[in-house]
Amino acid sequence: MELRKYPDPVLLKRAAPVTDFDDALRAQVAQMWDIMYASEGVGLAAPQVGWSVQLLILNPSGSADDASEAMVVINPRLVKKWGRDRHSEGCLSFPDIYVDVTRPKGVRLHWHDEHGVEHEEDFDDFRARILQHEMDHLEGVLLVHRMSPVDKIRYRHELGELRAIFADAAAS
Ligand SMILES: [Zn+2]
Repeated sequence: MELRKYPDPVLLKRAAPVTDFDDALRAQVAQMWDIMYASEGVGLAAPQVGWSVQLLILNPSGSADDASEAMVVINPRLVKKWGRDRHSEGCLSFPDIYVDVTRPKGVRLHWHDEHGVEHEEDFDDFRARILQHEMDHLEGVLLVHRMSPVDKIRYRHELGELRAIFADAAAS
């Protein structure tokens, strides 16, 4: 399992729902936590490690030592959204690129945890933003799709470099 970066095609696919909440799934999730913390992220969606399922992890502290708000979110669904907020977002699949994205400020989320238990809870601000960013990944929606025309010009060099690195890796 390794971190996939733009324009890896797995990032552009709609991920399939999880049906088996078994030990194999939990072992994969454990690997995702290692990758997320090693990459200094606060969230990671399964397609970002080449696993095209409706699963994401997040920890707003970004630290394994403070996991009080860490979550494993499987087959998520937004029941309700409210407010509006514009904030800068980064993405482990787009190193060194930061884009202002407007999203609902809060969401009511319905999801399953890694044991298959159902949950429903409200989230605001930072956790709501991480959740919505990671849920975008499950639909194949990426930071590049959220960019304004100005952002695309600003990051033309970085995006070009990512495409060149991917093409080189694919060719070797
Ligand atoms: Zn991302």
